[in-house]
Amino acid sequence: MSHHPKPSSEVGVKIRAHPSLCLGYGMCRRFARDVYHLDEEGYIDFHRLDVPADLAFEAWIGASVCPQRAITVIGEPEAYWRERRERFTAESEEASL
Ligand code: SF4
Repeated sequence: MSHHPKPSSEVGVKIRAHPSLCLGYGMCRRFARDVYHLDEEGYIDFHRLDVPADLAFEAWIGASVCPQRAITVIGEPEAYWRERRERFTAESEEASL
């Protein structure tokens, strides 16, 4: 029996995108390609998205690099997810020693 809940069962974040603001720079996808999918012309093509906890930090990064501020993240702040990422990285490094 594991005492650590699976990371993927944790609540992640929600994204609200505003396609009418998107100018197709593609920065969101460049920095977070597992989260942001663009249409054939390179524009963001969704309004709402649920992002699992394991990708929440990427979701924040992609939103913060958007020059148009076309992406809003709803949930715990970026610092929370950065700290979580660092904690998991440290734990897995310890486990591999
Ligand atoms: S970074 Fe912003 S403007 Fe560029 S494709 Fe993504 S949502 Fe659109």
